[in-house]
Amino acid sequence: MQDFFTESNQKLALFNEFLSSPKQIVITTHQNPDADALGSSLGLSAYLNKKGHFTTVITPTDYPDFLRWMSGETEVINFESDQNSLAKELIANADMIFCLDFSALNRIKGMEGFVKQSAAKKVLIDHHQQPENFADFVFWNERAAATCELIYELIEKLDDKHLIDIPTAECLYAGLVTDTGSFRFDSTSEEVHRIAGELISIGIHPNSIHRKIFDSNTFDRMKFLGFVLGEKLTYLPEYNVVYMAISKEELSRFSSKNGDTEGVVNYGLSIKGTVMAAIFTEKEDMIRVSLRSVDDFSVSEFSRTHFNGGGHKNAAGGRSHESLEKTVEKFLSLLPKYKEELTKN
Ligand code: 5GP
Ligand code: MN
Repeated sequence: MQDFFTESNQKLALFNEFLSSPKQIVITTHQNPDADALGSSLGLSAYLNKKGHFTTVITPTDYPDFLRWMSGETEVINFESDQNSLAKELIANADMIFCLDFSALNRIKGMEGFVKQSAAKKVLIDHHQQPENFADFVFWNERAAATCELIYELIEKLDDKHLIDIPTAECLYAGLVTDTGSFRFDSTSEEVHRIAGELISIGIHPNSIHRKIFDSNTFDRMKFLGFVLGEKLTYLPEYNVVYMAISKEELSRFSSKNGDTEGVVNYGLSIKGTVMAAIFTEKEDMIRVSLRSVDDFSVSEFSRTHFNGGGHKNAAGGRSHESLEKTVEKFLSLLPKYKEELTKN
């Protein structure tokens, strides 16, 4: 049974009661974690440690180097490279498993079966559309800009704001910055700025966090970006659409690492009048699809319908098991059907 405690004090009390004695806790998040995924996991972990619980953050896959400054990051277990199956043991023996920043269990890749099988109470804390029904406790709000915002609100509801120290505040701020596109997406609410302000009053330095995340490019990554913008950007003004398709060979030519394509799709939206931007990246076993949009055009629905994905209205992802060429062909063949919606303004 799902217990939504986002708005229910009674359910919050039940949740709080469960955590009234020390517990073994696993915190996990979606594959290829971004700053909101890792920041919310490490922020929650630090908070729960202060409350006397034993926590382990387990990520389904590795994450980019520009997140390696976060406090507690060196203790994270990467499920994919966990040789001695410590993660499986921790998942099986946990009292509680927190699932952060994803709404569908297939987003935790190889961990899915182990999390499902564990007798642990499951807690979902998330802001993606259409949460699956798998958790015992659900703290969910589609209108939240970031999962880090929800973690802050949860700690606040539990009257524990005084337990947020500077390293924890830095983790939470990182998620707010990135998931709002540096406070510019539509999701940038008064609440986001209130929380950001309170995190600053704890003692964080926004400029330092912003630089750690955005100004830590390698030279290769900058050359790669130049190549993508110079050679790969395709602009379809008749649809207000911009897309890029990057092959495995092109990624390896620039020694591209996990995370190097992150954020590149947003450049598509910066062309005046663009309504949807897409990037198709060829991976080992699939084509990764990443979509962005503005205003009412829902890329989450577009991705759910055509690319086995989902996400938020203006930022979504998915995958295709066809070739890169076929995936792009499919994308292009869909556009006439959406022309009216894409060009209405
Ligand atoms: P990105 O394009 O940055 O990978 O993802 C954009 C947003 O969509 C993120 O919030 C991400 O968590 C979500 N997302 C990405 N891929 C998928 C997917 O396959 N399924 C669902 N449900 N959400 C996704
Ligand atoms: Mn998020």
